[in-house]
Amino acid sequence: MTLDHDKWFTEVCRESGSAFSLELGPRGRLHHEVSDFQTIDVYDTVWFGRTLVIDGFLMLSERDNFLYHEMLSHPALFSHPNPRNVLIIGGGDCGTLREVLKHDAVEQAAQVDIDERVTRVCEEWFPELCSGNGDPRARLAFADGIQWVKDTPAGSLDLIIVDSTDPVGPGEGLFTEAFYRDCQTALAADGMLVQQSESPLAHLDSIIEPMHVAMRGAGFEDTHTLYFPQPIYPTGWWTATLARKGAAIAFERSATAEALPFATDYYTADIHRAAFAQPAFMQRRLDGAR
Ligand code: SAM
Repeated sequence: MTLDHDKWFTEVCRESGSAFSLELGPRGRLHHEVSDFQTIDVYDTVWFGRTLVIDGFLMLSERDNFLYHEMLSHPALFSHPNPRNVLIIGGGDCGTLREVLKHDAVEQAAQVDIDERVTRVCEEWFPELCSGNGDPRARLAFADGIQWVKDTPAGSLDLIIVDSTDPVGPGEGLFTEAFYRDCQTALAADGMLVQQSESPLAHLDSIIEPMHVAMRGAGFEDTHTLYFPQPIYPTGWWTATLARKGAAIAFERSATAEALPFATDYYTADIHRAAFAQPAFMQRRLDGAR
């Protein structure tokens, strides 16, 4: 079958020599703008619902964003003994913030995205993702997350979640040892960091292994990658990488996760344990990096 490119959105992934296409619905492109930082598009698709695209890369779809947002937040939040003060860097679509606010333990959650336009576009086109924005514990700020962490008082945060774009453009500095060192300083003694770390198949060499090395180099005691499906991202398989200060990463609040006090669509305590299991090829490489 030949694709009619007016009726399909296609994202090319050079690293995996592959492309992923979504059939557009009757309304096609719903929104297009060039902000001060990036190009922001929203498409209407036949089966994945609305999608957010930044600089030509799929960020989320209505159909499958629950996988990413739940797995970037709940495994880290249930691995921390008492996550009261949370910082989300990036995450302008507000889906991660919504998940973080499901935790009663969280007293404050700040979301710092460099581009206010991403949040304003998502408020219009993905209002369900923004349903936590009025929560009195939530703070939305629009600034560079790298500088924000530098300016954060030492030892004041329990968890930093890096929900960023790929390491190109404004997201590049969020994948460096210097940034992780500033995170180390901003975190309390038992603090944790979790970052989306791309595809185990396509980005082990270029992103995941260097991320472990850089996090360890910055002084984090333990690092661990977890896995989940993500159909709209290159190769369909995605990771998040955790780092913990001063102790080994453990399922600290498994009892609370077992009796999950809020609704999810993917995350359960069993999924948590399964997501931490290492595929053999990853274990071989990441054992070397640690
Ligand atoms: N789930 C997505 C993915 O992995 O494709 C990420 C979604 S979220 C929309 C990514 C956000 O990171 C964007 O809104 C972008 O503006 C933000 N971002 C990129 N670099 C940043 C920086 N240095 N500081 C704060 N936010 C940043």
